Amino acid sequence: QIQRALRSLCIPLERLHIMKGHMMEDMCKGLSRQTHAQAKVRMLPTYICSTPNGTEKGNFLVVELCQNQVRTVLVTLFGDGNMSPQMVYKIFDLPEGIMQGEGEALFDFIAQCVSQFLAETTPSDTSISEERLPLGFVFPFTCRQTQLDKAELLSWSKGFSCSGVVGKDVVQMLQSAINKQETGGNGGGGNWLSSWRGWKSSQLAPGQPSHVEVVALMNDTVGTMMTCCTEGRPCEIAMVADKGSNCCFMAEAYLVETAEETSGRMCVNTEWGCFGDDGTLNDVFTPYDESVDEESSNPGEKRFEKLVGTLYLGEIVRHALIALTAEKAVFTGTDITVLKEKGVFTIQHVLDIINNEDGTTEVKRVLEVLGLQPSERDCGRVQQICRAVVGRAATLHAVGLAAILSYMCQTRDMETLMVNVGVDGELYKGYSRFEEILQSVSRLLSPECLATLLPSRDGSGRGAAMVTAVALRLAAQRRAVDEVLGPLRLTHADLEKVQALMRQEMEKGLGKHTNATASVRMLPTYVSHTPDGTERGDFLALDLGGTNFRVLVVRVTEGGISMASEIYVIPAAIMQGTGEGLFDHIIDCIVDFQTKQNLMTQTLPLGFTFSFPCQQVGLDKALLLTWTKGFTASGCVGQDVVQLLREAAQRKQHSGLQVVALLNDTVGTMMSCGYDDPKCEIGLIVGTGTNACYMEEMKNVGTVEGDQGRMCVNMEWGAFGDNGCLDHIFTHFDRVVDETTINPGKQRFEKLISGMYLGEIVRQILLVMTEKQLLFQGRASSKLQTRNIFQTKFLSTIELNGLALRQIRTILNELELDASFEDSVLLREVCQTVSLRAAQLCAAGLAAVVEKMRENRGLDRLSVSVGVDGTLYKLHPCFSLNLQKTLKELAPNCDVSFHLSEDGSGKGAALVAAVACRTA
Ligand code: ADP
Ligand code: MG
Repeated sequence: QIQRALRSLCIPLERLHIMKGHMMEDMCKGLSRQTHAQAKVRMLPTYICSTPNGTEKGNFLVVELCQNQVRTVLVTLFGDGNMSPQMVYKIFDLPEGIMQGEGEALFDFIAQCVSQFLAETTPSDTSISEERLPLGFVFPFTCRQTQLDKAELLSWSKGFSCSGVVGKDVVQMLQSAINKQETGGNGGGGNWLSSWRGWKSSQLAPGQPSHVEVVALMNDTVGTMMTCCTEGRPCEIAMVADKGSNCCFMAEAYLVETAEETSGRMCVNTEWGCFGDDGTLNDVFTPYDESVDEESSNPGEKRFEKLVGTLYLGEIVRHALIALTAEKAVFTGTDITVLKEKGVFTIQHVLDIINNEDGTTEVKRVLEVLGLQPSERDCGRVQQICRAVVGRAATLHAVGLAAILSYMCQTRDMETLMVNVGVDGELYKGYSRFEEILQSVSRLLSPECLATLLPSRDGSGRGAAMVTAVALRLAAQRRAVDEVLGPLRLTHADLEKVQALMRQEMEKGLGKHTNATASVRMLPTYVSHTPDGTERGDFLALDLGGTNFRVLVVRVTEGGISMASEIYVIPAAIMQGTGEGLFDHIIDCIVDFQTKQNLMTQTLPLGFTFSFPCQQVGLDKALLLTWTKGFTASGCVGQDVVQLLREAAQRKQHSGLQVVALLNDTVGTMMSCGYDDPKCEIGLIVGTGTNACYMEEMKNVGTVEGDQGRMCVNMEWGAFGDNGCLDHIFTHFDRVVDETTINPGKQRFEKLISGMYLGEIVRQILLVMTEKQLLFQGRASSKLQTRNIFQTKFLSTIELNGLALRQIRTILNELELDASFEDSVLLREVCQTVSLRAAQLCAAGLAAVVEKMRENRGLDRLSVSVGVDGTLYKLHPCFSLNLQKTLKELAPNCDVSFHLSEDGSGKGAALVAAVACRTA
């Protein structure tokens, strides 16, 4: 029988693996918004989003409500890595009956304890003086926490049942009780703060704390975790193996769906005592466990805790002994009536029995003190049972720990995890083999993780002070961060103003007489129609001015558009040679292409995407204003580009060339999307630069003769603000970035939005934040001082939701920056701020466009589409969503949909040619 009993208490390894899996599933359930309510492992958010970094300093008061006691602690931190905090304690016994009395009386009592403690205590560092003394409240009951200082009690436990507290915010209750004390409203108290630091007068001197403020509430498990954090050694898991059992750990905040926080990490209180309440542990329960559960005050609940909590271990042993006696396996022929009484066999008895490795003298003593008459054999068997019960408890703790370790490792997307685990509690301290079992079993179950166990010093009091200190440090940091980022955050009113200014500049640009002074040029394109889908035929297209020079043939059929293309290199000698040389080279490329494609015998209409600034005077007539992007070919500026191409064709005796249109890439983008969606009357580019075009009424285009129909206008909006009209939104960072470009004062709008600049803006912010000691511990690497080192594509990576912060660190490590976890979180916020502003400003520009189109057409609602191109728009994870959301807010009467353009330059050029042929 004894062997059978021992076997039933021993859980096989495969079963432990399965149990770990269940625990992980339950953890996910507890974190998910949909399943949280039914989850047994509650996974409560604590709103503690950071662990101490050692810079915390000041005086902190902690009040801990424990079983039968209130503990008050004054902790002084010196910002020295928290190595040697000063602590003064006082313990107050709870008066008889208060645990079951009125809630208000309980909180009044706690406030009195605070008052009395402060009256008697002088802080060890009187040089630190604050107006208010922050208080951390350790409240070891299940709460629904919605902020660090807001927690509604869900249910009492541990013998407490005070009325009028469940459902209330316990922080508020404690604060009110303290306020009552401070104003002397509760009799006796008087102005107790006046005696703080030995001041006997009733006047408060400047620098004295005039107010105790409850800034944080936490569970004792969290306190333990924080206690174990010292400099350079964050502790991210804490386990308390005591009367009950619980564990908390730092989870990725975005996974804690029940809290609003999405960035960084948050400490989650697992409340794992209820694991198994849904039956997942049924097959490991022994008849002894069932008896313990039936006799408890809450049968069927906290099933895991009842296997591992020290409140229950003695009971399990007691029931095992009763059963074994009945089976005549122990205590045969002796009186065991004493074992019938609940609670006689305590954890202390159990620990005394098992910790004694040599012989059974101690076992005999313990059992005799209990009133039993054990034989030598009984002593041995009782010891075996006790070892089995406690060993199982330690093993089950290891299962829980392994589940958390693997969960952390997986969700942080790491191959291996090294982490410190703070441990505290009666079982951990009292059972000599606990640590060894915890270590070895968790290692077996989660071999990818390496947990270092740290004993918690000074219990949860110091930890609670740390939580409070960290909360204050973060609040101060938040203020400083907001000060830096504030100017980059635009309000709805700011954006409306930008929209209005854009509208104003558009009108100026369109006006015949005002055009010259407008920052938005509003260039006519001579494209009067978007595709209607009836275009057919084969076309040639040229794309010059992007990264590559390309020649394409585009086939527009009923079934859709197909293309073939060839990329040609333009040697630097030709780019910087003569105009004739350049255009001759282009013709050579066309001939080569036509030959390869077997097109030499046909004369195909040709569309030319030419991405350089041009003054267009006809669809096939455009004067080059200036070369950019490394081109300097002579004799071209001021000339008609189409004519230059035609002349080259003549020189090369290529008669089969029919150039019908020259266009800008925004126009190509609009046209290529317009083929599939006739409502597409806007083109937008957000790539290296930014620009837009749209269909304007001819009667509004003052720079072109004629009032009939519409014409596409190339806004050249990148230059918006070059006349100073946006000066009020430029920040210090924007000015620095502008000054270091090759065209200072030019393209000011573009410099707030496009890919060429966003990374650089972020870099400037990082430099300032580092200088203000908000990042990288105040140390900027020399790499970070390098211009353009922070690429815009980094923003895309960093802002990916759910990206493991490790990857952010990888980017930062490449920049030779040693980033803490918090640095990574802040960096992400910086990137989000910059890219959000870019998207919002782009939306403000677009809002001006769509509203103007709506007014032009006299519509209450406009439904229109935008064709978009550009890598920033296409690859950034939030840019397009932010743009669309802001546009809805700024232009509520317009329904705007967006289409990504595919190969706008090639396809668009062909379509411009096609439409020209169709309308001709
Ligand atoms: P262009 O505008 O010259 O035709 P693109 O549309 O490809 O070229 O845009 C290039 C710009 O896109 C570059 O300035 C670069 O910084 C930016 N970029 C490249 N990759 C990404 C990315 N993953 N996320 C955001 N921006 C990017
Ligand atoms: Mg492009």
